[in-house]
Amino acid sequence: AERRARLLEAARLLEANRERFMAMAVETGATADWYGFNVKLAANMLRDAAGMTTQIKGEVIPSDVPGSFAMALRQPCGVVLGIAPWNAPIILAVRAIATPLACGNTVILKGSELCPATHGLIIEALQEGGLPPGVVNFVTNAPADAGSVVEAIVAHPAVRRVSFTGSTRVGRIIGQTCAKYLKPAILELGGKAPFLVLDDADVDAAVAGCTFGAFANSGQICMSTERFVVDNKVADEFIAKFAARAQSLPLGDPRKGPVVLGSVVDLATVERCNAMIDDALAKGAKIVCGGKAENTLMPATLIDHVTPAMRIFHEETFGPVKGIVRVNSEEEAIATANDNEFGLSSAVFTRDTARGWRVAARIEAGICHINGPTVHDEAPMPFGGVKSSGYGSFGSSASARAMQMRWRWP
Ligand code: NAD
Repeated sequence: AERRARLLEAARLLEANRERFMAMAVETGATADWYGFNVKLAANMLRDAAGMTTQIKGEVIPSDVPGSFAMALRQPCGVVLGIAPWNAPIILAVRAIATPLACGNTVILKGSELCPATHGLIIEALQEGGLPPGVVNFVTNAPADAGSVVEAIVAHPAVRRVSFTGSTRVGRIIGQTCAKYLKPAILELGGKAPFLVLDDADVDAAVAGCTFGAFANSGQICMSTERFVVDNKVADEFIAKFAARAQSLPLGDPRKGPVVLGSVVDLATVERCNAMIDDALAKGAKIVCGGKAENTLMPATLIDHVTPAMRIFHEETFGPVKGIVRVNSEEEAIATANDNEFGLSSAVFTRDTARGWRVAARIEAGICHINGPTVHDEAPMPFGGVKSSGYGSFGSSASARAMQMRWRWP
């Protein structure tokens, strides 16, 4: 009950300090709306974790031995290391530590080099919420030291579980380090979410759903729609309406007033997206709206007639640059969606809900939304990917199992 009360107080403090978090948009270039949404969902995650404190259950095991009473209990596993990135900094840091705390563990948050102050504010809220000294710990590092700092923590015998949210490239390194020291890990990695518009889709609903999923936080969300897979029967209408909407999104310095597209995190994002635009155009794609950017204020960009020969078909842009692939059937739409190494989020738009379920079941992804954007998450929902998007799940009850040891008696 005490743990629950302190987690609830930390949630209240996060929301009470909302304005401070918005000021931290300076670290990543994100808009006030994005930070406000981060605070709201992160506070809900803390409340949901607080609720988990009374849901930790054991089991009675039917024993073969006459007269034997056997049971298994769930216990805290020890110190949990959480490693979080910058792109949804409040949500992703809080989800790395909330459920482990609710299960009675202590935690170490390794913050991102790109937003250490924002991650530090979360630790302050938890400490002000009344968590005792030593329960929540915070480590920051220079970028060049990330590998050695992480290995030193993983190697320590007191550390018993690891969660990592970030790129697939670094996730592979973390997975290998955890294997070396036999530490179980949850890996939440990159994505290339497909958004399927089938021939019977409500085109206006699809346009409304995909604008948010593609361009919220300038496309820098692991669940961001990265590929539009559109049936040729509705493609011209969908693309025309989507482009009109995308072009109207306000773009600008988020410190100067409300915008939808703020600054992307760095020039490396601009260079990566520009290179993918050049590659696609050289191989026959056509720009529908937007185009190459000269600075971190990047416009909403749509590229039509994308094919598997192009980098943008396979690689994460992690920016506001989106490819459209035209297909001629449901089978081709599913095959195109699955022709990718990632499998995190996805969406399918169709007026026939039964068809939506059927198609969703065949998409290789941890998450699929029927008639909704690819970007959607709530505290109690299991969250995790397949293929190169990683393994293990966040979401309160899913991660609670991973963050406890099972102990058997007798
Ligand atoms: P990143 O992998 O570059 O960095 C993440 C963390 O890894 C940082 O804390 C960094 O210090 C650490 N790191 C870097 N090199 C390391 C090394 N050699 N050894 C150990 N740790 C190291 O990711 P990023 O650019 O910060 O985030 C963007 C990526 O994260 C995108 O690919 C995005 O799709 C993914 N992401 C995934 C999810 C998800 O839930 N699946 C959520 C958000 C972002």
